[in-house]
Amino acid sequence: MSGSGRAERLLETAREMNLQGLNRGTAGNASVRLADGAMLITPSGLRFDRCEPGDMVVIDADGHAEGARKASSEWRIHFDIYRARPDAGAILHAHPPYATALACHRRPIPPFHYMIARFGGADVRCAAYHTFGTQALSDATLDALRDRSACLLANHGMVVVGRDLDHGLALAIELEALCQHYLLSRQIGRPVLLDGTEMNEVVARFGSYGQARD
Ligand code: 13P
Ligand code: ZN
Repeated sequence: MSGSGRAERLLETAREMNLQGLNRGTAGNASVRLADGAMLITPSGLRFDRCEPGDMVVIDADGHAEGARKASSEWRIHFDIYRARPDAGAILHAHPPYATALACHRRPIPPFHYMIARFGGADVRCAAYHTFGTQALSDATLDALRDRSACLLANHGMVVVGRDLDHGLALAIELEALCQHYLLSRQIGRPVLLDGTEMNEVVARFGSYGQARD
């Protein structure tokens, strides 16, 4: 894909996060991996519906930004995940209502539903609280993402790691739906949790779920 094609796809995904109710205003950001350790990321503090592809920012392998706009304040989270996780092709960060409400309690989402396994294990962890845009928040996020493709950020929102932008968006929508289900189920008591054997079985089954990929 050409550089401008990639920027268009990234902006389209960022806009879709707002259309899907995952972000409002200028909350959230998204990125896609480029060749040679570089990445393309959304700009800081701009409404995605008012951005153009040329507003997307390239960050090279040394962490230097190239572009007319200032990169997202959370560029370190994206940069550090691509460095640590070869499976990451795209990363989305959002402040969706249900996930953020849960993140304010600073607790992992337990295996109350089999779909939790879609994120790699028996829970979705919550990263420790740190100020937005800091290296400390990036470090905490990487830690919470161990063997997982998503985590909550305490008193903040969520981060998802996809193999590409479509996959990342699908995971973000799925996680927000699960957070809504969990909150609803907690309103009528404590849901019955799946056990380790049941969750391991689902994790294994997700290995061959959906259409074969090339
Ligand atoms: P940016 O506009 O700088 O990406 O910040 C949004 C955000 O969600 C910070 O955590
Ligand atoms: Zn944020």
